[in-house]
Amino acid sequence: MADENNIKENSAEAAGGEDKEVVSRNFIENEIDKDLAEGHYKTVHTRFPPEPNGYLHIGHAKSILLNYGLAQEYGGKFNLRFDDTNPTKEKTEFVESIKADVEWLGADFEDRLFFASDYFDQMYEAAVKLIKKGKAFVCDLSAEEIKEYRGNFETPGKNSPYRDRSIEENLELFENMKNGMYKDGEKVLRARIDMASPNINMRDPVIYRVAHMSHHNTGDKWCIYPMYDFAHPIEDAIEGITHSICTLEFEDHRPLYDWVVREVGYEYPPRQIEFAKLYLTNVVTGKRYIKKLVEDGIVDGWDDPRLVSIAALRRRGFTPESIRMFVDLCGVSKSNSSTDYAMLEYCIREDLKCKRSRIMAVLDPVKLIIDNYPEDKTECFEIANNLENESLGSRKVAFSRELYIDREDFMIDPPKKYFRLFPGNEVRLMNAYFVKCESYETDADGNVTTVHCTYDPETRNGECSTRKVKGTIHWVSAAHSVNAEVRLYENLVDEEKGVYNKEDGSLNLNPDSRRILKDCRIEENIKGAKAYDSFQFVRQGYFCVDSKDSRDDALVFNRIVSLKSSFKLPS
Ligand code: ATP
Ligand code: MG
Repeated sequence: MADENNIKENSAEAAGGEDKEVVSRNFIENEIDKDLAEGHYKTVHTRFPPEPNGYLHIGHAKSILLNYGLAQEYGGKFNLRFDDTNPTKEKTEFVESIKADVEWLGADFEDRLFFASDYFDQMYEAAVKLIKKGKAFVCDLSAEEIKEYRGNFETPGKNSPYRDRSIEENLELFENMKNGMYKDGEKVLRARIDMASPNINMRDPVIYRVAHMSHHNTGDKWCIYPMYDFAHPIEDAIEGITHSICTLEFEDHRPLYDWVVREVGYEYPPRQIEFAKLYLTNVVTGKRYIKKLVEDGIVDGWDDPRLVSIAALRRRGFTPESIRMFVDLCGVSKSNSSTDYAMLEYCIREDLKCKRSRIMAVLDPVKLIIDNYPEDKTECFEIANNLENESLGSRKVAFSRELYIDREDFMIDPPKKYFRLFPGNEVRLMNAYFVKCESYETDADGNVTTVHCTYDPETRNGECSTRKVKGTIHWVSAAHSVNAEVRLYENLVDEEKGVYNKEDGSLNLNPDSRRILKDCRIEENIKGAKAYDSFQFVRQGYFCVDSKDSRDDALVFNRIVSLKSSFKLPS
Protein backbone atom coordinates (compact mmCIF):
# COMPACT_ATOMS: atom_id res chain seq x y z
CA MET A 1 0.00 0.00 0.00
CA ALA A 2 1.44 3.33 -1.03
CA ASP A 3 0.68 5.16 2.16
CA GLU A 4 2.30 8.17 3.73
CA ASN A 5 5.29 6.14 4.89
CA ASN A 6 5.97 4.89 1.45
CA ILE A 7 5.95 8.30 -0.04
CA LYS A 8 8.34 9.51 2.60
CA GLU A 9 10.57 6.54 1.93
CA ASN A 10 10.47 7.24 -1.76
CA SER A 11 11.44 10.81 -1.22
CA ALA A 12 14.30 9.59 0.93
CA GLU A 13 15.45 7.48 -1.97
CA ALA A 14 15.13 10.37 -4.34
CA ALA A 15 17.20 12.46 -1.95
CA GLY A 16 20.17 10.18 -2.36
CA GLY A 17 19.10 6.76 -1.16
CA GLU A 18 20.27 7.18 2.41
CA ASP A 19 19.15 4.56 4.88
CA LYS A 20 17.59 7.07 7.21
CA GLU A 21 14.29 8.59 6.28
CA VAL A 22 14.61 12.15 5.15
CA VAL A 23 11.29 13.64 6.09
CA SER A 24 10.81 17.19 5.01
CA ARG A 25 8.59 19.08 7.39
CA ASN A 26 5.95 21.51 6.30
CA PHE A 27 5.80 25.04 7.65
CA ILE A 28 3.01 24.20 10.09
CA GLU A 29 5.07 21.41 11.63
CA ASN A 30 7.97 23.83 11.94
CA GLU A 31 5.76 26.33 13.77
CA ILE A 32 4.42 23.65 16.09
CA ASP A 33 7.94 22.38 16.82
CA LYS A 34 8.89 25.91 17.78
CA ASP A 35 5.83 26.39 19.97
CA LEU A 36 6.54 23.16 21.81
CA ALA A 37 10.25 23.91 22.18
CA GLU A 38 9.52 27.37 23.55
CA GLY A 39 6.99 25.93 25.95
CA HIS A 40 3.93 27.78 24.62
CA TYR A 41 2.04 24.51 24.55
CA LYS A 42 2.64 21.13 26.10
CA THR A 43 0.61 19.11 23.63
CA VAL A 44 -0.98 19.46 20.23
CA HIS A 45 -4.73 19.58 19.93
CA THR A 46 -6.32 20.25 16.56
CA ARG A 47 -9.82 20.26 15.17
CA PHE A 48 -11.79 20.19 11.95
CA PRO A 49 -14.62 22.72 12.18
CA PRO A 50 -17.12 22.30 9.31
CA GLU A 51 -20.25 24.32 9.04
CA PRO A 52 -23.09 21.81 8.44
CA ASN A 53 -24.40 23.69 5.40
CA GLY A 54 -23.42 21.24 2.69
CA TYR A 55 -21.40 18.12 1.98
CA LEU A 56 -17.64 18.00 2.35
CA HIS A 57 -15.40 18.00 -0.69
CA ILE A 58 -11.83 17.10 -1.57
CA GLY A 59 -10.60 20.45 -0.21
CA HIS A 60 -12.10 19.63 3.17
CA ALA A 61 -10.41 16.23 3.00
CA LYS A 62 -7.13 18.09 2.91
CA SER A 63 -8.03 20.07 6.00
CA ILE A 64 -9.29 16.96 7.83
CA LEU A 65 -6.23 14.88 7.06
CA LEU A 66 -3.90 17.75 7.86
CA ASN A 67 -5.46 18.39 11.26
CA TYR A 68 -5.86 14.73 12.09
CA GLY A 69 -2.35 13.94 10.85
CA LEU A 70 -0.81 16.61 13.07
CA ALA A 71 -2.63 15.31 16.12
CA GLN A 72 -1.38 11.79 15.34
CA GLU A 73 2.14 12.89 14.65
CA TYR A 74 2.48 14.75 17.95
CA GLY A 75 0.54 12.23 20.00
CA GLY A 76 -2.19 14.82 20.55
CA LYS A 77 -5.92 14.99 20.10
CA PHE A 78 -8.24 15.72 17.22
CA ASN A 79 -11.79 17.07 17.50
CA LEU A 80 -14.59 17.07 15.01
CA ARG A 81 -16.58 20.17 15.78
CA PHE A 82 -19.60 21.43 13.96
CA ASP A 83 -19.45 25.16 13.58
CA ASP A 84 -23.20 25.44 13.72
CA THR A 85 -23.66 29.05 14.71
CA ASN A 86 -25.68 30.12 11.68
CA PRO A 87 -29.09 28.41 11.66
CA THR A 88 -30.12 29.73 8.23
CA LYS A 89 -28.42 27.08 6.13
CA GLU A 90 -27.70 24.27 8.52
CA LYS A 91 -29.33 20.87 8.40
CA THR A 92 -29.10 17.55 10.24
CA GLU A 93 -28.65 15.80 6.89
CA PHE A 94 -25.36 17.65 6.53
CA VAL A 95 -24.25 16.79 10.07
CA GLU A 96 -24.75 13.10 9.33
CA SER A 97 -23.03 13.18 5.96
CA ILE A 98 -20.03 15.06 7.37
CA LYS A 99 -19.61 12.56 10.21
CA ALA A 100 -19.73 9.68 7.76
CA ASP A 101 -17.19 11.34 5.47
CA VAL A 102 -14.72 12.13 8.23
CA GLU A 103 -14.96 8.56 9.52
CA TRP A 104 -14.55 7.13 6.05
CA LEU A 105 -11.38 9.15 5.55
CA GLY A 106 -10.02 7.49 8.65
CA ALA A 107 -9.76 10.61 10.78
CA ASP A 108 -10.80 8.98 14.01
CA PHE A 109 -12.33 11.58 16.30
CA GLU A 110 -13.38 8.87 18.79
CA ASP A 111 -15.80 10.48 21.21
CA ARG A 112 -14.43 13.92 20.47
CA LEU A 113 -17.48 15.15 18.58
CA PHE A 114 -18.60 18.65 19.47
CA PHE A 115 -21.13 21.26 18.46
CA ALA A 116 -20.41 24.96 18.69
CA SER A 117 -24.07 25.44 19.55
CA ASP A 118 -23.44 23.58 22.82
CA TYR A 119 -21.33 26.59 23.83
CA PHE A 120 -23.99 29.24 23.23
CA ASP A 121 -24.26 29.87 26.99
CA GLN A 122 -20.52 30.33 27.33
CA MET A 123 -20.45 32.59 24.30
CA TYR A 124 -23.20 34.69 25.79
CA GLU A 125 -21.23 34.92 29.03
CA ALA A 126 -18.11 35.91 27.09
CA ALA A 127 -20.05 38.70 25.41
CA VAL A 128 -21.32 39.93 28.79
CA LYS A 129 -17.75 39.89 30.04
CA LEU A 130 -16.64 42.07 27.14
CA ILE A 131 -19.47 44.51 27.82
CA LYS A 132 -18.43 44.70 31.46
CA LYS A 133 -14.87 45.49 30.39
CA GLY A 134 -16.13 48.25 28.12
CA LYS A 135 -15.05 46.17 25.13
CA ALA A 136 -18.44 45.65 23.52
CA PHE A 137 -21.54 47.75 22.94
CA VAL A 138 -25.04 47.41 21.58
CA CYS A 139 -25.45 49.32 18.35
CA ASP A 140 -28.69 50.47 16.70
CA LEU A 141 -27.25 51.29 13.31
CA SER A 142 -28.75 49.34 10.44
CA ALA A 143 -26.60 46.86 8.51
CA GLU A 144 -26.23 49.41 5.75
CA GLU A 145 -25.20 52.17 8.10
CA ILE A 146 -22.67 49.93 9.76
CA LYS A 147 -21.17 49.23 6.37
CA GLU A 148 -21.09 52.92 5.54
CA TYR A 149 -19.47 53.85 8.86
CA ARG A 150 -16.87 51.14 8.43
CA GLY A 151 -14.95 53.04 5.75
CA ASN A 152 -12.62 51.20 3.41
CA PHE A 153 -8.95 50.62 2.73
CA GLU A 154 -8.29 54.30 2.06
CA THR A 155 -10.60 55.92 4.61
CA PRO A 156 -10.79 55.13 8.30
CA GLY A 157 -14.18 54.29 9.76
CA LYS A 158 -16.40 56.56 11.86
CA ASN A 159 -17.43 55.76 15.39
CA SER A 160 -21.00 54.61 15.83
CA PRO A 161 -23.12 57.17 17.75
CA TYR A 162 -23.97 54.28 20.12
CA ARG A 163 -20.36 53.43 20.86
CA ASP A 164 -20.21 55.24 24.19
CA ARG A 165 -23.30 53.81 25.79
CA SER A 166 -22.78 53.03 29.47
CA ILE A 167 -21.91 49.52 30.57
CA GLU A 168 -25.24 49.27 32.42
CA GLU A 169 -27.23 50.31 29.38
CA ASN A 170 -25.32 47.86 27.20
CA LEU A 171 -25.90 45.02 29.66
CA GLU A 172 -29.59 45.74 29.74
CA LEU A 173 -29.95 46.09 25.97
CA PHE A 174 -27.98 42.90 25.33
CA GLU A 175 -30.20 41.03 27.72
CA ASN A 176 -33.21 42.46 25.94
CA MET A 177 -31.74 41.22 22.69
CA LYS A 178 -31.51 37.77 24.18
CA ASN A 179 -35.05 37.99 25.50
CA GLY A 180 -36.47 38.60 22.07
CA MET A 181 -37.46 42.22 22.48
CA TYR A 182 -36.11 43.30 19.10
CA LYS A 183 -36.72 42.38 15.53
CA ASP A 184 -34.02 40.86 13.31
CA GLY A 185 -31.48 43.52 12.44
CA GLU A 186 -32.80 46.07 14.90
CA LYS A 187 -29.80 45.84 17.20
CA VAL A 188 -26.43 44.12 17.20
CA LEU A 189 -23.65 43.68 19.70
CA ARG A 190 -20.30 44.97 18.46
CA ALA A 191 -16.78 44.62 19.75
CA ARG A 192 -15.34 47.96 20.72
CA ILE A 193 -11.90 47.95 19.16
CA ASP A 194 -10.74 50.64 16.75
CA MET A 195 -12.63 52.26 13.89
CA ALA A 196 -9.36 53.62 12.52
CA SER A 197 -7.58 50.29 12.40
CA PRO A 198 -5.89 49.61 9.08
CA ASN A 199 -7.44 46.14 9.36
CA ILE A 200 -11.12 46.52 8.56
CA ASN A 201 -11.96 43.39 10.54
CA MET A 202 -10.94 45.29 13.67
CA ARG A 203 -13.32 48.19 13.08
CA ASP A 204 -15.81 47.36 15.79
CA PRO A 205 -16.98 44.09 14.20
CA VAL A 206 -20.46 42.78 14.90
CA ILE A 207 -20.24 39.84 17.31
CA TYR A 208 -23.91 39.05 17.99
CA ARG A 209 -27.02 39.54 15.90
CA VAL A 210 -30.73 39.08 16.42
CA ALA A 211 -32.18 36.24 14.35
CA HIS A 212 -35.56 34.79 15.21
CA MET A 213 -34.84 31.36 13.85
CA SER A 214 -34.98 27.79 15.03
CA HIS A 215 -31.66 26.06 15.35
CA HIS A 216 -31.17 22.38 14.41
CA ASN A 217 -29.67 21.72 17.84
CA THR A 218 -30.93 24.35 20.28
CA GLY A 219 -34.41 24.76 18.81
CA ASP A 220 -36.00 28.04 19.85
CA LYS A 221 -33.86 28.66 22.92
CA TRP A 222 -31.98 31.50 21.27
CA CYS A 223 -32.98 34.42 19.11
CA ILE A 224 -29.49 35.90 19.09
CA TYR A 225 -26.59 34.14 17.43
CA PRO A 226 -22.85 34.85 17.63
CA MET A 227 -20.91 35.83 14.51
CA TYR A 228 -18.24 33.52 13.18
CA ASP A 229 -15.23 35.67 14.10
CA PHE A 230 -16.37 35.86 17.70
CA ALA A 231 -17.62 32.30 18.05
CA HIS A 232 -14.75 30.47 16.43
CA PRO A 233 -11.90 31.49 18.75
CA ILE A 234 -14.13 30.82 21.75
CA GLU A 235 -14.98 27.33 20.48
CA ASP A 236 -11.28 26.62 20.02
CA ALA A 237 -10.40 27.97 23.46
CA ILE A 238 -13.17 26.05 25.23
CA GLU A 239 -11.99 22.79 23.70
CA GLY A 240 -8.34 23.44 24.55
CA ILE A 241 -7.30 23.57 20.91
CA THR A 242 -3.65 24.56 20.65
CA HIS A 243 -3.31 25.10 16.93
CA SER A 244 -6.32 26.37 15.04
CA ILE A 245 -5.47 25.58 11.47
CA CYS A 246 -7.52 27.28 8.81
CA THR A 247 -7.27 28.55 5.26
CA LEU A 248 -5.64 31.74 4.00
CA GLU A 249 -8.79 33.85 3.72
CA PHE A 250 -8.74 34.05 7.52
CA GLU A 251 -5.28 35.57 7.71
CA ASP A 252 -6.73 39.10 8.01
CA HIS A 253 -9.05 37.86 10.71
CA ARG A 254 -6.24 36.61 12.91
CA PRO A 255 -5.85 39.89 14.85
CA LEU A 256 -9.52 39.66 15.75
CA TYR A 257 -9.13 35.99 16.70
CA ASP A 258 -6.27 36.93 19.00
CA TRP A 259 -8.22 39.89 20.37
CA VAL A 260 -11.19 37.70 21.31
CA VAL A 261 -9.22 35.02 23.14
CA ARG A 262 -7.16 37.67 24.92
CA GLU A 263 -10.06 39.92 25.96
CA VAL A 264 -12.29 37.05 27.03
CA GLY A 265 -9.32 35.98 29.07
CA TYR A 266 -8.47 32.38 28.25
CA GLU A 267 -5.48 31.07 30.10
CA TYR A 268 -4.18 29.01 27.19
CA PRO A 269 -5.13 30.88 24.06
CA PRO A 270 -5.05 28.81 20.87
CA ARG A 271 -2.98 29.95 17.96
CA GLN A 272 -4.32 30.36 14.44
CA ILE A 273 -2.16 29.22 11.51
CA GLU A 274 -3.30 29.57 7.90
CA PHE A 275 -2.52 27.45 4.85
CA ALA A 276 -3.56 27.61 1.20
CA LYS A 277 -6.79 25.96 0.09
CA LEU A 278 -6.65 23.01 -2.22
CA TYR A 279 -7.97 23.76 -5.68
CA LEU A 280 -8.22 21.31 -8.54
CA THR A 281 -8.09 22.16 -12.22
CA ASN A 282 -11.28 21.70 -14.23
CA VAL A 283 -13.24 20.57 -11.23
CA VAL A 284 -15.94 22.34 -9.26
CA THR A 285 -14.65 22.53 -5.69
CA GLY A 286 -16.38 25.44 -3.95
CA LYS A 287 -19.16 24.27 -1.63
CA ARG A 288 -21.31 27.10 -2.97
CA TYR A 289 -20.89 25.93 -6.56
CA ILE A 290 -21.44 22.26 -5.78
CA LYS A 291 -24.58 23.23 -3.93
CA LYS A 292 -25.83 25.13 -6.94
CA LEU A 293 -25.22 22.18 -9.26
CA VAL A 294 -27.21 20.01 -6.88
CA GLU A 295 -30.04 22.50 -6.41
CA ASP A 296 -30.30 23.24 -10.14
CA GLY A 297 -30.58 19.51 -10.83
CA ILE A 298 -27.52 19.52 -13.09
CA VAL A 299 -26.17 16.59 -11.13
CA ASP A 300 -28.12 13.88 -9.29
CA GLY A 301 -27.47 14.96 -5.75
CA TRP A 302 -24.43 15.61 -3.59
CA ASP A 303 -22.97 12.18 -4.31
CA ASP A 304 -23.23 12.31 -8.09
CA PRO A 305 -19.99 10.59 -9.12
CA ARG A 306 -18.98 13.55 -11.31
CA LEU A 307 -18.56 15.76 -8.27
CA VAL A 308 -15.57 15.90 -5.97
CA SER A 309 -17.59 15.89 -2.79
CA ILE A 310 -16.26 13.14 -0.55
CA ALA A 311 -19.56 11.28 -0.85
CA ALA A 312 -19.26 11.43 -4.65
CA LEU A 313 -15.65 10.26 -4.65
CA ARG A 314 -16.59 7.36 -2.41
CA ARG A 315 -19.54 6.42 -4.61
CA ARG A 316 -17.37 6.64 -7.70
CA GLY A 317 -14.92 4.21 -6.15
CA PHE A 318 -12.09 6.30 -4.74
CA THR A 319 -10.53 4.87 -1.59
CA PRO A 320 -9.50 6.73 1.57
CA GLU A 321 -5.92 5.59 0.85
CA SER A 322 -5.95 7.22 -2.56
CA ILE A 323 -7.19 10.48 -1.10
CA ARG A 324 -4.57 10.38 1.63
CA MET A 325 -1.89 9.80 -0.96
CA PHE A 326 -3.21 12.71 -3.00
CA VAL A 327 -3.29 15.08 -0.06
CA ASP A 328 0.26 14.06 0.88
CA LEU A 329 1.50 14.67 -2.64
CA CYS A 330 -0.13 18.11 -2.68
CA GLY A 331 1.75 19.15 0.43
CA VAL A 332 0.92 22.14 2.60
CA SER A 333 1.65 25.62 1.37
CA LYS A 334 1.12 29.28 2.08
CA SER A 335 0.40 30.27 -1.51
CA ASN A 336 -2.69 29.44 -3.54
CA SER A 337 -2.34 27.21 -6.56
CA SER A 338 -4.30 24.58 -8.45
CA THR A 339 -3.48 20.91 -8.57
CA ASP A 340 -4.04 18.87 -11.70
CA TYR A 341 -7.07 16.58 -11.39
CA ALA A 342 -4.95 13.96 -13.17
CA MET A 343 -2.91 13.66 -9.99
CA LEU A 344 -5.97 12.46 -8.11
CA GLU A 345 -6.51 9.89 -10.87
CA TYR A 346 -2.89 8.86 -10.62
CA CYS A 347 -3.38 8.21 -6.91
CA ILE A 348 -6.41 5.97 -7.32
CA ARG A 349 -4.70 3.99 -10.08
CA GLU A 350 -1.65 3.52 -7.87
CA ASP A 351 -3.78 2.45 -4.95
CA LEU A 352 -5.91 -0.06 -6.85
CA LYS A 353 -3.21 -1.41 -9.13
CA CYS A 354 -2.17 -4.26 -6.86
CA LYS A 355 -5.26 -4.47 -4.67
CA ARG A 356 -7.99 -5.34 -7.13
CA SER A 357 -8.80 -8.31 -9.33
CA ARG A 358 -8.61 -7.84 -13.05
CA ILE A 359 -11.57 -9.27 -14.85
CA MET A 360 -12.95 -9.21 -18.36
CA ALA A 361 -15.83 -6.96 -19.30
CA VAL A 362 -17.08 -6.07 -22.73
CA LEU A 363 -18.60 -2.60 -22.73
CA ASP A 364 -19.88 -2.49 -26.30
CA PRO A 365 -20.49 -6.13 -27.19
CA VAL A 366 -20.40 -7.76 -30.61
CA LYS A 367 -20.98 -11.49 -30.95
CA LEU A 368 -18.02 -13.59 -31.97
CA ILE A 369 -18.71 -17.16 -33.08
CA ILE A 370 -15.93 -19.72 -33.36
CA ASP A 371 -17.29 -21.87 -36.17
CA ASN A 372 -14.93 -24.81 -35.62
CA TYR A 373 -15.46 -24.97 -31.84
CA PRO A 374 -17.90 -27.71 -30.70
CA GLU A 375 -21.36 -26.36 -30.01
CA ASP A 376 -21.96 -28.14 -26.73
CA LYS A 377 -18.50 -27.67 -25.27
CA THR A 378 -17.50 -25.41 -22.41
CA GLU A 379 -13.99 -25.28 -21.04
CA CYS A 380 -12.47 -23.28 -18.24
CA PHE A 381 -9.27 -21.31 -18.08
CA GLU A 382 -7.53 -20.69 -14.80
CA ILE A 383 -6.62 -17.01 -14.91
CA ALA A 384 -4.57 -15.04 -12.39
CA ASN A 385 -6.56 -12.27 -10.74
CA ASN A 386 -3.69 -9.82 -10.68
CA LEU A 387 -0.34 -10.52 -12.27
CA GLU A 388 1.34 -8.02 -9.96
CA ASN A 389 -0.11 -9.55 -6.81
CA GLU A 390 -0.17 -13.31 -6.60
CA SER A 391 -1.93 -13.26 -3.26
CA LEU A 392 -5.14 -12.32 -5.07
CA GLY A 393 -5.18 -15.86 -6.46
CA SER A 394 -6.86 -16.98 -9.62
CA ARG A 395 -10.28 -17.78 -10.95
CA LYS A 396 -11.89 -20.01 -13.52
CA VAL A 397 -13.22 -18.31 -16.63
CA ALA A 398 -15.57 -20.21 -18.90
CA PHE A 399 -14.97 -20.34 -22.65
CA SER A 400 -17.40 -21.51 -25.32
CA ARG A 401 -18.27 -21.27 -28.98
CA GLU A 402 -20.17 -18.00 -28.68
CA LEU A 403 -18.37 -15.06 -27.17
CA TYR A 404 -18.64 -11.30 -26.98
CA ILE A 405 -15.83 -8.96 -27.86
CA ASP A 406 -15.71 -5.18 -27.83
CA ARG A 407 -16.96 -3.48 -30.97
CA GLU A 408 -13.80 -1.44 -31.26
CA ASP A 409 -11.72 -4.63 -31.40
CA PHE A 410 -13.07 -5.51 -34.84
CA MET A 411 -12.88 -3.49 -38.05
CA ILE A 412 -14.03 -4.38 -41.54
CA ASP A 413 -11.56 -2.07 -43.12
CA PRO A 414 -8.80 -1.28 -40.66
CA PRO A 415 -6.19 1.45 -40.92
CA LYS A 416 -2.50 0.56 -40.88
CA LYS A 417 -1.16 -0.50 -37.50
CA TYR A 418 -4.52 -1.85 -36.41
CA PHE A 419 -3.55 -5.21 -34.96
CA ARG A 420 -6.87 -6.37 -33.65
CA LEU A 421 -9.51 -8.38 -35.52
CA PHE A 422 -10.31 -7.81 -39.17
CA PRO A 423 -11.12 -10.23 -41.99
CA GLY A 424 -8.21 -12.60 -42.51
CA ASN A 425 -6.32 -11.51 -39.38
CA GLU A 426 -5.42 -13.67 -36.42
CA VAL A 427 -5.37 -12.41 -32.81
CA ARG A 428 -5.07 -13.87 -29.35
CA LEU A 429 -8.18 -14.10 -27.23
CA MET A 430 -6.59 -13.19 -23.94
CA ASN A 431 -5.56 -16.31 -21.97
CA ALA A 432 -7.55 -18.54 -24.35
CA TYR A 433 -6.80 -19.29 -28.01
CA PHE A 434 -5.64 -17.73 -31.23
CA VAL A 435 -8.60 -17.02 -33.47
CA LYS A 436 -8.68 -15.96 -37.10
CA CYS A 437 -11.46 -13.86 -38.57
CA GLU A 438 -13.15 -15.65 -41.46
CA SER A 439 -16.22 -13.50 -42.11
CA TYR A 440 -18.76 -11.18 -40.50
CA GLU A 441 -22.45 -10.30 -40.63
CA THR A 442 -24.06 -6.88 -40.62
CA ASP A 443 -27.55 -5.52 -40.15
CA ALA A 444 -29.47 -3.45 -42.69
CA ASP A 445 -27.56 -0.31 -41.64
CA GLY A 446 -24.19 -1.94 -42.11
CA ASN A 447 -23.48 -2.35 -38.39
CA VAL A 448 -21.50 -5.44 -37.59
CA THR A 449 -23.65 -7.95 -35.70
CA THR A 450 -21.49 -11.08 -35.68
CA VAL A 451 -17.86 -11.89 -36.33
CA HIS A 452 -17.06 -15.43 -37.45
CA CYS A 453 -13.73 -16.96 -36.55
CA THR A 454 -11.90 -20.26 -36.46
CA TYR A 455 -9.64 -21.18 -33.59
CA ASP A 456 -6.44 -23.18 -33.38
CA PRO A 457 -6.73 -25.82 -30.64
CA GLU A 458 -2.92 -25.90 -30.44
CA THR A 459 -2.83 -22.42 -28.94
CA ARG A 460 -4.50 -23.17 -25.61
CA ASN A 461 -3.92 -20.52 -22.91
CA GLY A 462 -3.03 -18.13 -25.71
CA GLU A 463 0.38 -19.78 -26.13
CA CYS A 464 1.99 -20.80 -29.41
CA SER A 465 5.60 -21.62 -30.18
CA THR A 466 5.44 -21.54 -33.96
CA ARG A 467 3.99 -18.12 -34.77
CA LYS A 468 3.19 -14.78 -33.20
CA VAL A 469 0.18 -12.50 -33.29
CA LYS A 470 0.31 -8.78 -32.73
CA GLY A 471 -3.08 -8.26 -31.12
CA THR A 472 -4.56 -9.59 -27.91
CA ILE A 473 -8.18 -8.82 -27.16
CA HIS A 474 -10.43 -9.62 -24.24
CA TRP A 475 -13.72 -11.48 -24.42
CA VAL A 476 -16.48 -13.06 -22.38
CA SER A 477 -18.45 -16.22 -23.07
CA ALA A 478 -21.99 -15.29 -24.11
CA ALA A 479 -23.56 -17.98 -21.95
CA HIS A 480 -21.24 -17.33 -19.02
CA SER A 481 -21.49 -13.58 -18.70
CA VAL A 482 -23.97 -11.22 -17.10
CA ASN A 483 -25.52 -8.02 -18.30
CA ALA A 484 -24.53 -4.80 -16.57
CA GLU A 485 -24.90 -1.07 -16.89
CA VAL A 486 -21.69 0.90 -16.97
CA ARG A 487 -21.46 4.64 -16.48
CA LEU A 488 -18.53 6.49 -17.99
CA TYR A 489 -17.65 9.88 -16.64
CA GLU A 490 -15.76 12.79 -18.09
CA ASN A 491 -15.11 16.21 -16.61
CA LEU A 492 -18.25 18.00 -15.57
CA VAL A 493 -16.86 21.24 -16.93
CA ASP A 494 -15.65 22.04 -20.39
CA GLU A 495 -11.87 21.95 -20.12
CA GLU A 496 -11.34 24.17 -23.15
CA LYS A 497 -13.47 26.97 -21.80
CA GLY A 498 -12.39 26.75 -18.15
CA VAL A 499 -14.61 26.19 -15.13
CA TYR A 500 -16.36 29.55 -14.94
CA ASN A 501 -17.67 31.68 -17.75
CA LYS A 502 -15.80 34.99 -17.71
CA GLU A 503 -18.84 37.08 -18.62
CA ASP A 504 -21.40 36.01 -16.05
CA GLY A 505 -19.57 33.61 -13.75
CA SER A 506 -21.77 30.69 -14.78
CA LEU A 507 -20.28 27.22 -15.10
CA ASN A 508 -19.09 26.00 -18.49
CA LEU A 509 -20.61 22.55 -18.44
CA ASN A 510 -19.54 19.61 -20.55
CA PRO A 511 -22.74 18.13 -22.04
CA ASP A 512 -21.11 14.68 -22.32
CA SER A 513 -19.91 14.35 -18.75
CA ARG A 514 -21.81 11.08 -18.29
CA ARG A 515 -22.32 8.31 -20.80
CA ILE A 516 -24.50 5.35 -19.84
CA LEU A 517 -23.86 1.98 -21.47
CA LYS A 518 -26.79 -0.35 -20.87
CA ASP A 519 -25.90 -3.76 -22.27
CA CYS A 520 -22.37 -4.44 -21.21
CA ARG A 521 -21.32 -8.06 -20.64
CA ILE A 522 -19.12 -9.07 -17.74
CA GLU A 523 -17.70 -12.52 -16.98
CA GLU A 524 -20.01 -14.30 -14.57
CA ASN A 525 -17.44 -14.24 -11.77
CA ILE A 526 -18.73 -10.75 -11.13
CA LYS A 527 -21.94 -12.18 -9.66
CA GLY A 528 -22.33 -11.27 -6.03
CA ALA A 529 -20.41 -8.00 -6.32
CA LYS A 530 -21.60 -5.58 -3.68
CA ALA A 531 -21.81 -1.80 -3.39
CA TYR A 532 -18.37 -0.15 -3.39
CA ASP A 533 -16.60 -3.31 -4.65
CA SER A 534 -14.17 -2.35 -7.36
CA PHE A 535 -12.34 -4.15 -10.14
CA GLN A 536 -10.05 -3.56 -12.98
CA PHE A 537 -11.81 -4.34 -16.25
CA VAL A 538 -8.84 -5.39 -18.33
CA ARG A 539 -7.77 -2.89 -20.97
CA GLN A 540 -10.44 -0.44 -19.82
CA GLY A 541 -9.96 0.97 -16.37
CA TYR A 542 -11.14 0.68 -12.79
CA PHE A 543 -14.83 0.31 -12.07
CA CYS A 544 -16.88 0.34 -8.89
CA VAL A 545 -20.31 -1.09 -8.09
CA ASP A 546 -22.68 1.85 -7.71
CA SER A 547 -23.97 2.05 -4.17
CA LYS A 548 -27.31 3.57 -5.09
CA ASP A 549 -28.54 1.96 -8.26
CA SER A 550 -26.87 -1.45 -8.49
CA ARG A 551 -28.94 -4.60 -7.80
CA ASP A 552 -27.78 -8.21 -7.52
CA ASP A 553 -29.61 -9.04 -10.73
CA ALA A 554 -28.91 -5.73 -12.48
CA LEU A 555 -25.41 -4.58 -11.70
CA VAL A 556 -24.42 -0.95 -12.26
CA PHE A 557 -20.82 0.17 -12.40
CA ASN A 558 -19.14 3.56 -12.28
CA ARG A 559 -15.90 4.07 -14.09
CA ILE A 560 -13.52 5.37 -11.48
CA VAL A 561 -10.72 6.09 -13.89
CA SER A 562 -9.44 4.77 -17.20
CA LEU A 563 -6.10 3.00 -17.41
CA LYS A 564 -4.29 5.42 -19.62
CA SER A 565 -2.82 8.72 -18.63
CA SER A 566 -0.14 11.08 -19.77
CA PHE A 567 0.17 12.38 -16.21
CA LYS A 568 3.62 12.43 -14.65
CA LEU A 569 4.32 13.09 -11.00
CA PRO A 570 5.80 16.54 -10.52
CA SER A 571 9.41 16.13 -9.43
P1 ATP B 1 -18.31 28.06 3.58
O1 ATP B 1 -17.67 28.48 4.88
O2 ATP B 1 -18.25 29.06 2.52
O3 ATP B 1 -19.63 27.44 3.74
P2 ATP B 1 -16.13 26.22 3.49
O4 ATP B 1 -15.69 25.39 2.33
O5 ATP B 1 -15.18 27.18 4.08
O6 ATP B 1 -17.42 26.90 2.98
P3 ATP B 1 -16.43 25.08 6.10
O7 ATP B 1 -17.41 24.08 6.55
O8 ATP B 1 -16.41 26.40 6.78
O9 ATP B 1 -16.70 25.25 4.56
O10 ATP B 1 -14.99 24.44 6.08
C1 ATP B 1 -14.44 23.72 7.13
C2 ATP B 1 -12.95 23.81 7.07
O11 ATP B 1 -12.46 23.33 5.82
C3 ATP B 1 -12.44 25.22 7.23
O12 ATP B 1 -11.43 25.20 8.20
C4 ATP B 1 -11.91 25.57 5.87
O13 ATP B 1 -10.84 26.46 5.96
C5 ATP B 1 -11.49 24.22 5.31
N1 ATP B 1 -11.55 24.22 3.85
C6 ATP B 1 -12.58 24.59 3.08
N2 ATP B 1 -12.28 24.50 1.78
C7 ATP B 1 -11.00 24.05 1.71
C8 ATP B 1 -10.10 23.76 0.64
N3 ATP B 1 -10.45 23.91 -0.63
N4 ATP B 1 -8.85 23.32 0.96
C9 ATP B 1 -8.50 23.15 2.24
N5 ATP B 1 -9.29 23.41 3.29
C10 ATP B 1 -10.53 23.86 3.05
MG1 MG C 1 -15.96 28.37 6.05
